[in-house]
Amino acid sequence: MEYRTVLTTCTYCGTGCGLLLEVMDGEVVGVLPAKTHPINEGKLCIKGWNAHEFIYADGRLTKPLVRKGDTLEEASWDEALETIANKFAEIKKTNGPDSLGCFSSAKCTNEENYLLQKIFRAAIGTNNVDHCARL
Ligand code: SF4
Repeated sequence: MEYRTVLTTCTYCGTGCGLLLEVMDGEVVGVLPAKTHPINEGKLCIKGWNAHEFIYADGRLTKPLVRKGDTLEEASWDEALETIANKFAEIKKTNGPDSLGCFSSAKCTNEENYLLQKIFRAAIGTNNVDHCARL
């Protein structure tokens, strides 16, 4: 049996607690708080303690889904992104840029959040930008 821990950052919110993923025989089996991490100093909230559980969850999405009629069908990333771009262009042309908006997430990095608002403000032309931290 091979056991090791991997230091990483909790993905559940923007606090950024440090945690150790427990890996046994190549599979993530648990989480421990990082005692020397400057943010959480050895503590985790209930979400952090269970931060590994989604990794092997049956319902986890691992591929893009594109709606075709009444069903969602697996698609390639190229097809999914092209569908989004075409729909956005169509909506903007028909109803104007303020008919579109984006809602970002604390699970994303600062850089990802910056890029999303930049796309909506500069490329689409709307200030309809919001973030889950305001909920
Ligand atoms: S452990 Fe809790 S407070 Fe810390 S980053 Fe994860 S969700 Fe946020």
